[in-house]
Amino acid sequence: DTIGADLDRTAARVGDHEALVECASGRRWTYPELVADVDACALGLDALGVGKGDRVGIWAPNCAEWVFVQYGTAKLGAVLVNINPAYRTHELKYVLQQAGISVLVAAPEFKTSDYRAMVAEVREDCPELRTVVFLGDPEWEQLLATGRAADRALLTERAAQLSPDDPINIQYTSGTTGFPKGATLTHHNLLNNGFFVGEGCGYTEADRVCIPVPYYHCFGMGMGNLGCTSHGATMVIPAPGFDPAATLQAVQDERCTSLYGVPTMFIAELALPGFSSYDLSSLRTGIMAGSPCPVEVMKRVVDEMGMTEVTICYGMTETSPVSTQTGADDDLDRRTSTVGRTHPHLESKVVDPETGLTVPRGTPGELCTRGYSVMLGYWDEPEKTAEVLDAARWMHTGDLAVMDEAGYLNIVGRIKDMVIRGGENVYPREVEEFLYTHPDIVDAQVIGVPDERYGEELMAWVQLREGAEPLTAEALRAFCAGKLAHFKVPRYVKVVDGFPMTVTGKVRKVEMREVSVTELG
Ligand code: ATP
Ligand code: MG
Repeated sequence: DTIGADLDRTAARVGDHEALVECASGRRWTYPELVADVDACALGLDALGVGKGDRVGIWAPNCAEWVFVQYGTAKLGAVLVNINPAYRTHELKYVLQQAGISVLVAAPEFKTSDYRAMVAEVREDCPELRTVVFLGDPEWEQLLATGRAADRALLTERAAQLSPDDPINIQYTSGTTGFPKGATLTHHNLLNNGFFVGEGCGYTEADRVCIPVPYYHCFGMGMGNLGCTSHGATMVIPAPGFDPAATLQAVQDERCTSLYGVPTMFIAELALPGFSSYDLSSLRTGIMAGSPCPVEVMKRVVDEMGMTEVTICYGMTETSPVSTQTGADDDLDRRTSTVGRTHPHLESKVVDPETGLTVPRGTPGELCTRGYSVMLGYWDEPEKTAEVLDAARWMHTGDLAVMDEAGYLNIVGRIKDMVIRGGENVYPREVEEFLYTHPDIVDAQVIGVPDERYGEELMAWVQLREGAEPLTAEALRAFCAGKLAHFKVPRYVKVVDGFPMTVTGKVRKVEMREVSVTELG
């Protein structure tokens, strides 16, 4: 079905149930109130001339208006283009031009960025950009007022023109391994994926889901918003950007039953000085996803945050995004150490990247995904699409995985991150998991750096617990000795306060490598 029709159906079913809470402002919406604002937004955009297939950009941190624009554009069949809140003029211009955005809805500013000034700077170079509306400005209020005054029959007419297979979203990948690519997604891709993710978490109307992950990404707008609205659950926005204290405060104040995050977000929450003073007893489930989920962190999330039914999801923007998820009925060991099994109506296979042939169970290879959730392609980039989507519509993920006899998958790393040291394949993930067991290490990331003798050598960047003694490479090697094979022991150690990150909270190993190569000379 279409996203708009699904929202309307939920609203009709759940009545005055709470749909959305924006903690920073204290604003709240019931489902009918949300539908009213979504419809006003849709009709307001319609009055601006936005029609089916037109690209509408949204450049804002998480806020209620993001939700209005997400569902409002879907009701018109317009293509929503998510713009990363961390972008600066160079990237903004690229996206405005690449996607051919005609209407842009933007926050006036965010953190230290003046969005108004940046839009003004690039506008001349984007002739297709007809209209820019800043949230909170009189123009935005006018758009909603026009929408409220419009004839609602118009929306019924628009809805009759929609097909679930229309593209309605261009979503840029995180840019972890290179320049972001715009995955083109349909109602069917996104809505069904959100629905199955919600099923995986066992959502009902009783659930209140805390969403600190960015709306800019599928994790927020798909697994978060669509996961909730397809089940009549409540979306809770703790803060515009990620703030660990505001997140735990929101869980406590709003009695959230579910909490989302990439591993680094959970790590930051668990490391808050006042962590134990928050009442998190309402938490039942949640999702950790986006990058490898360390077993130690998963265990703490279960034990210390009480998220006994927490699930791990694996996926990528190109697959809307989730393709595997752990189940509440899996035993704890499997729930913490694998990314679960393939979602309903999807297929997975693990192939030898050289030959393309499926490898035996237990052997690492490239994970491929096929089914309803696979994107139409990268927007306006047929060559890049052809590199990842084959003729049989298998999406080649670029991730290395191992599938066991029962179909559980373990992600061992990205093909691009694998280190080949003296002919031995080293998966940084495995070394990182081991480093997490060091009592002074809070977070660890392992990369390969060029080495004359071995081709590549391992380097660990580690973040230490507050007040910990300095850690030398010798001390770390001594810690590893006898426990890790010699070729997996990091040669170099760099103590850091943090890692270069994407806005979706992923560590940019590309950047770590650049910095390290320069430093090592
Ligand atoms: P880019 O494609 O631009 O380099 P990206 O791949 O990080 O960036 P996303 O689509 O946001 O962009 O992320 C998908 C990737 O995240 C997957 O291909 C995988 O490498 C990683 N990932 C997602 N979930 C998990 C998980 N549970 N465990 C391990 N890795 C994960
Ligand atoms: Mg990717």
